[in-house]
Amino acid sequence: MTYREDIEGLDASILMHPRVWEASGHVENFTDPMIDCKQCKARFRLDVLGDQINEKKKKKAIEALKENNKDNPTLISKVDTILSGSDEADNFERMLIDDEIGKLLLAELNCPQCGNKGTFTAARKFNLMFKTFVGPVEDSGSVVYLRPETAQGIYINFLNVQSSSRQKLPFGIAQIGKAFRNEINTKNFLFRTREFEQMEMQFFVQPANDKKWFEYWKAERINWYYSLGMTKEKLRYYDHPKDKLAHYAKEATDIEYDFPFGWGEIEGIHNRTNYDLSRHEEHSGKSMKYFDEESKEKYIPFIIETSAGASRSFMAFLIDAYYEEEVNNEQRSVLKFHPKLAPIKAAIFPLVNKDGMPEISREIEKDLRRNFKVFYDDKGAVGRRYRRQDEAGTPYCITVDTQTLEDKTVTVRDRDSMEQVRVSIDKLSEYLLLKING
Ligand code: ATP
Repeated sequence: MTYREDIEGLDASILMHPRVWEASGHVENFTDPMIDCKQCKARFRLDVLGDQINEKKKKKAIEALKENNKDNPTLISKVDTILSGSDEADNFERMLIDDEIGKLLLAELNCPQCGNKGTFTAARKFNLMFKTFVGPVEDSGSVVYLRPETAQGIYINFLNVQSSSRQKLPFGIAQIGKAFRNEINTKNFLFRTREFEQMEMQFFVQPANDKKWFEYWKAERINWYYSLGMTKEKLRYYDHPKDKLAHYAKEATDIEYDFPFGWGEIEGIHNRTNYDLSRHEEHSGKSMKYFDEESKEKYIPFIIETSAGASRSFMAFLIDAYYEEEVNNEQRSVLKFHPKLAPIKAAIFPLVNKDGMPEISREIEKDLRRNFKVFYDDKGAVGRRYRRQDEAGTPYCITVDTQTLEDKTVTVRDRDSMEQVRVSIDKLSEYLLLKING
């Protein structure tokens, strides 16, 4: 956003008028299907139950379902059509969420927690929005929701931002902020939490150009992960089939990362059409139309959304960067973060705590801290200090040594190649900025 003149930033409210969520469809549709085990009381999200059941058991349950219903050819043919899909996990999910097949399949499955068979309740819809109340009285008139996504705050502010920034279509509005979802099962560390950080960008386009911009942002977004060093083979697109699109979407693609627990979405790119702005116009009675000075027409723009989880993609970057290596017969753990992502950009060490080395190191630290986060460490052997910074993913370690006292140069050690070069102190800041920003 900072590097593009066609994108503006925004920090909208977390608590908004409840009708925002009626207009967006969240009150009605933002639900997950939920089941309980009657025996052990464990609760599961129906559509992802398959992740917790092994392939052999899934196959056995499908065979039993077909055997027990062989006198119902319509049902069998429906099952076979779903099974003809190329993605087995997807096929299983489709069967589970099908009203008719789902019930029969659940009866053949064992609870992943207690192992009992046929103990699941029927699926119920569960709204994921956290509800709270404004003011002292907890009645239906004072309900508000913690935002489950940052996007709606952008839509209702679209004309505000457009007119005050004097942007013309196509342009985008981006924001980073907290989102809250009452997830049925939180799991896999930062992958699924109830409070998480999103970074979303809504790009407003002329309706006729939606396809072009959808493809543009698909490419742009995966390139962003590549440009920050994420392993290419661990990223892929998942294009949503038409019958699984969300109520607002004309086209949708997920960018998925190959986590140790399997492929998982880290970002969604959606063509949301004019759905959101039209709904807000309808519910607020306030025009959401954009006046196109070139064509002299007034219309509601289409929206291409890039919706990423900051915390979820952070976890992907963390996993991707983690290596254990042997160096000089010693094991080292290292986080090979792209320098732009590394939380600490450089560490400064005096070789020994005497001869003026700590003073020079502190001067360097003070100077560098104006540009980025640095860390001062004078504890233990230099080798150990390197290891500690490797573990934290610090890309550069600067050591003040005897030669510094003679020629005002320091060593800069690269985390990945472990090579050292001598750099003059007065060029250090420039040297590192170039290395970090490329
Ligand atoms: P999922 O299918 O995993 O629940 P979603 O399709 O509902 O995700 P979106 O509504 O498209 O997700 O949200 C955009 C992004 O926000 C996701 O790509 C993900 O990175 C992040 N995200 C969504 N839910 C969570 C969560 N509970 N915890 C952490 N990040 C999340």
